[in-house]
Amino acid sequence: MRIILLGPPGAGKGTQAKVLAQELGVAHISTGDILRQNVKEATQLGKEAKDFMDRGLLVPDGLMSKMLQDRFAKSDVKQGFILDGYPRNIAQAKTLEEIFRLKGLDVDLVVYLDSSDSVIIQRLSGRLVCSKCSANYHITNMPPLRQGFCDKCGGSLYQRTDDKVETIKKRLEVYKNEVSDLIKYYSEENKLHRLSADGQAEEVLKEIVVLTKQ
Ligand code: ADP
Ligand code: ZN
Repeated sequence: MRIILLGPPGAGKGTQAKVLAQELGVAHISTGDILRQNVKEATQLGKEAKDFMDRGLLVPDGLMSKMLQDRFAKSDVKQGFILDGYPRNIAQAKTLEEIFRLKGLDVDLVVYLDSSDSVIIQRLSGRLVCSKCSANYHITNMPPLRQGFCDKCGGSLYQRTDDKVETIKKRLEVYKNEVSDLIKYYSEENKLHRLSADGQAEEVLKEIVVLTKQ
């Protein structure tokens, strides 16, 4: 199964992708997670990307293409994948198409998780992320059992530097500028399914699972 998840920041792409990848036995490719790992390790890519990320802007397409090519060179993608956070504009969609063409891959499903601005801001401004396994929590909606620590792996939880209200608004603006083109692009291939992601994570997951079985 090869799935692309589209949707605004805070729609729950990461949360859904992690569970789905495990259930389907496929790779979870989160460009945000890969970038944050690079920032943490202070790699060349991390150094170049950090400032864009902190400002809520897209990391330049050239850097992203290189990153995606490296990721798709790994053998686990042969089992299938869930792509979370890429593509974010038409140039990236075309890069992806080219990577797929070279590898003889095709997408089975594009799920567009839509969410309202108020839900997004509420979710992201209270989000906590595990520094070890990148599991997500929320200060009030989904608090960890032990304050400050991950239920799954015991890692310490932190707030992302781009989860400040001002930066969230910027990320939303950047997202809205690009998304309609992407939706059009994937609609033409008849692979796009839109779901509302404002509800409970478990409910949204059920709806995605139904789509994977069609
Ligand atoms: P969100 O979608 O919630 O904003 P992500 O973790 O997916 O969070 O991404 C965080 C940041 O990483 C983005 O704001 C952007 O700077 C960068 N990023 C992630 N994916 C891409 C991409 N495909 N193209 C450009 N920048 C990206
Ligand atoms: Zn953890």
